[in-house]
Amino acid sequence: MSDTIFGKIIRREIPADIVYEDDLALAFKDINPQAPTHILVIPKKPIPRISDAGSEDQALLGHLLWTVKQVAEKAGLSNGYRVVINNGADGGQTVDHLHLHVLGDRQMKWPPG
Ligand code: AMP
Repeated sequence: MSDTIFGKIIRREIPADIVYEDDLALAFKDINPQAPTHILVIPKKPIPRISDAGSEDQALLGHLLWTVKQVAEKAGLSNGYRVVINNGADGGQTVDHLHLHVLGDRQMKWPPG
């Protein structure tokens, strides 16, 4: 499986502003924030895309959402926030390591671009 920049962040080969870590997940601030608060939650397991997740990953996927909730609370996003997963080319995914965007501290619009 090919490595990505997020693999390098997990292994501490490049710096990141890490806000949460446990055995299964890591969360860090997006380098190009699209909202005043923009955090990425990733699994340590290098699943490239949500569409690559297997049935054995179901608990991990649930854990990632649980991590989003914890990270959002820690960031003080009490007025709401948006969670985004971009998948593949049409989804606008640019880094092939599954990640959940947590965006907050501004009013979100719908539909997204
Ligand atoms: P996506 O377009 O859904 O694949 O999102 C990839 C995200 O990773 C983008 O929002 C980038 O700004 C972010 N990103 C890329 N490199 C880094 C990095 N070294 N540290 C933090 N965020 C990054």
